[in-house]
Amino acid sequence: MNKRDRDWMLEETIRAYRGLDDDALGVLKEHWPADRIRQEAIATVLAEREVDARVVQQADTEHAWGAPVTVPDKERPSITCPTCGMVSYNHNDIRERYCGHCHQFHDEMP
Ligand SMILES: [Zn+2]
Repeated sequence: MNKRDRDWMLEETIRAYRGLDDDALGVLKEHWPADRIRQEAIATVLAEREVDARVVQQADTEHAWGAPVTVPDKERPSITCPTCGMVSYNHNDIRERYCGHCHQFHDEMP
């Protein structure tokens, strides 16, 4: 699996796990100790609930970057950089209109 597919899968798994309660997440964690994507997704969701927004932001930046543009999903919110054309599905990027490829906010681009 290449990195983009892996990141996309992780992001999708995180999305799916956001609806579960902490007990269900605990059970999943027990059952798939060897599956890194699931583990990371669970850790991210738990962090979202228990720790603080910066942890989630960091996890998003590290893992959810550069979701593949080839995945056809019109329902999926995304943002396209006006400078480099990169599509991001990262919620923080969408909210703040930020491009992780250019490392710039869209509003501050020349
Ligand atoms: Zn860009």
